[in-house]
Amino acid sequence: MISNAGDGEIPLSSEMPPTVANKIQTKLTRAEFQVLHYEELLLLCNEQLLLVNNEHAVPSNASGNFANVADYVSASEAFDVSTMDENALVALRTMFTSAANAGFDEFYVTQGFRTQERQYELYANAADASFVARPGHSEHQTGLAADISYRGANIANSQQGTWLANNAHLYGFILRYPAHKTEITGFPAEPWHFRYVGQPHANYMHQNDLALEEYIEHLKSRGEITAAFAGIVYEIYYFNPGDSIELPHNNSFTSSRDNTGGIIVTVSQ
Ligand SMILES: [Zn+2]
Repeated sequence: MISNAGDGEIPLSSEMPPTVANKIQTKLTRAEFQVLHYEELLLLCNEQLLLVNNEHAVPSNASGNFANVADYVSASEAFDVSTMDENALVALRTMFTSAANAGFDEFYVTQGFRTQERQYELYANAADASFVARPGHSEHQTGLAADISYRGANIANSQQGTWLANNAHLYGFILRYPAHKTEITGFPAEPWHFRYVGQPHANYMHQNDLALEEYIEHLKSRGEITAAFAGIVYEIYYFNPGDSIELPHNNSFTSSRDNTGGIIVTVSQ
């Protein structure tokens, strides 16, 4: 898909390699853009939109910027909570502060990052293995998932659980395993398990009732979508191996591989 040079669009020169269309409505000049190929973009990727489920294992080269959970939020010492992705923790802290303002001031993280070895132990010792992902297939191994309790209690069927389910998307989290998506996610309902995906993705998924699996399929089939959050408009592009993209030189975009072979690029306008 090549963009036509129209009103407000940046024309593509004829010498340029085939690029995926960009429709970035901006005042940037030609010199402020760069063409990035899939392989170059891969090096810039974070893991924020990594799909991990029964079909897609955590990549062996997954990386992250981890921090201590207890430095950001209340972590239950009864469980093995140690570290999580730092962006997820910052968002979690903001979410817990808002929850406290709403009257729910004792949310705890009971599970954060989990190593492959720990996942093996849990899986081997599980009374009900349907709630425990196979080693290599747990979102906790990405550091982007948090299991949340309230005053040490399970938040299923509680007003605290309802508050999180209704508000987590405002802080970049999704309720990863809702009851009505079990056939898509492959997991039974887990009202306590929240996954950080960032904005505008969390908001878009919530508004359109899409599980992460469905969101990635949605992006693949559309190629690009527009999403807005907190007054900012974003263009979201899906790239396959071999694709190229024209992106601003400045830092107004982020990219994440999706763990199904594609890269999702998010450009803020
Ligand atoms: Zn969990």
